[in-house]
Amino acid sequence: MARPGNKIIQPKLVLLGDMGTGKTSLVLRFVKGQFLDQQESTIGAAFFTQILSVSEATVKFDIWDTAGQERYHSLAPMYYRGAAAAVVVYDISSLDTFARAKQWVQELQNQGNPNPVMALVANKSDLDSKREVQIQDAEEFAQEHGMFFMETSAKTAHNVNELFYEIAKKLAIAY
Ligand code: GDP
Ligand code: MG
Repeated sequence: MARPGNKIIQPKLVLLGDMGTGKTSLVLRFVKGQFLDQQESTIGAAFFTQILSVSEATVKFDIWDTAGQERYHSLAPMYYRGAAAAVVVYDISSLDTFARAKQWVQELQNQGNPNPVMALVANKSDLDSKREVQIQDAEEFAQEHGMFFMETSAKTAHNVNELFYEIAKKLAIAY
């Protein structure tokens, strides 16, 4: 019998979502534990790695962030190719970014792996006083599309490690 935690997997994880929703900030919070108030939208070759151990496996994430190409509302096929996991991000203070999240999910389903682990992420939970998207609507959408839902804040670090931990768990079980 294999020892638990023996397995090593190296999944590709992509970030999707409109510009300004906090994709890069979430990655930098997770990988470097930092947050910048004025995150440069175009900065980054946008490739990161991070290792997380869960009981079923050691997960070496290959994280693909955009370098601002999402402004054109679509990404190159190579971005989606082979992605085992996708994090679709919207900003709770912008209904428009939630509407667009639905289109990002569609694009992923058209171009990506058949059954990726998908998270719908409501970022900027610290901006609750400016909330435009209700949790219930997002949960409903996530459920319809086989996604799990989480509210995060890259700014306060709320649920950021939890998000990646949850993805790691699901990947470790699936692979
Ligand atoms: P991206 O275009 O999706 O990569 O978004 P960025 O990570 O560049 O973030 C866009 C802006 O939103 C930046 O000014 C960030 O500082 C800010 N931001 C990102 N995450 C949060 C958050 O959780 N809360 C708040 N208040 N601002 C955030
Ligand atoms: Mg970015």
